[in-house]
Amino acid sequence: METGLRNRVAIIAASSKGIGRATALALASEGTHLALCARNANALDQVAEEARHLHGVEVYTETFDVAEDDRVRQFADAVHGRFGNIDICVTNAGGPPAKSFAETTMAEWDRAYQLNLRSIVSFAQAVLPYMQQRRWGRLITITSIAVKQPVPELILSNSVRTGVLGLVRSLATQYGPDNITINNVGPGYTATDRVKELAQTNAQTSGRSASEYESEVAKDIPLGRLAKPEEVADVIVWLASERASYITGQTILVDGGLYRGL
Ligand code: NAD
Repeated sequence: METGLRNRVAIIAASSKGIGRATALALASEGTHLALCARNANALDQVAEEARHLHGVEVYTETFDVAEDDRVRQFADAVHGRFGNIDICVTNAGGPPAKSFAETTMAEWDRAYQLNLRSIVSFAQAVLPYMQQRRWGRLITITSIAVKQPVPELILSNSVRTGVLGLVRSLATQYGPDNITINNVGPGYTATDRVKELAQTNAQTSGRSASEYESEVAKDIPLGRLAKPEEVADVIVWLASERASYITGQTILVDGGLYRGL
């Protein structure tokens, strides 16, 4: 299937590991040039080298925290200066800590808002005017199944991420006339460091090992296993492609059937 992604330019935020990394490599395999950011320069450079070596695409990297909105804007401007356009922007960041409501602090609420809602606003503000100029664009947010079905002990994620749905729906309406599609992808349990982090937190309270936690989680998933990050990345690639040109304002869960709603 022709994706139409060759020589497009994509920003992928928080792409040194996990779903962001898998998305970067999946887009590179379609011939898309990449602009990557994360906080860890070494890990990010490895992803960039892999994309260049395996797929021959150009890759630009910058190291910063996506909660710093001035850095997000500077990054987007630098990407535009380097490539001449920004076609695709995939927003991403680390998830908030797993805590019960009573354990959370106001500082953690502020950080969750900055990381998992405000950073998306920063990217959207920075890239949409460039997409408007060319009358083509794809903004894709990575959130969580938590936007449809709260996840136990993830009160920060459950609360803050639902705001992204309102943002995505509103922006899809506003920017549809510019031929820009805006969609959200909600991963279920996916085999990355994030799940290891959740398993560790769970081990402290329940005494279960990480593999026991994963088996327990998998029991509730109709497909009976965690996702591979590449399986989430494939959906993002499809949304970015010409094949999804009439899809906008949607949330697509990649959760192996875990969400039980209609
Ligand atoms: P991960 O821990 O494997 O990777 C997170 C990436 O984000 C890393 O590259 C890290 O360096 C980067 N990052 C973290 N905080 C950052 C910051 N402040 N600024 C810049 N970069 C930052 O996690 P993942 O599993 O790939 O998860 C990606 C997103 O999807 C997270 O928001 C996570 O909460 C969410 N999610 C994950 C799962 C899962 O089961 N893995 C399920 C639902 C939602």
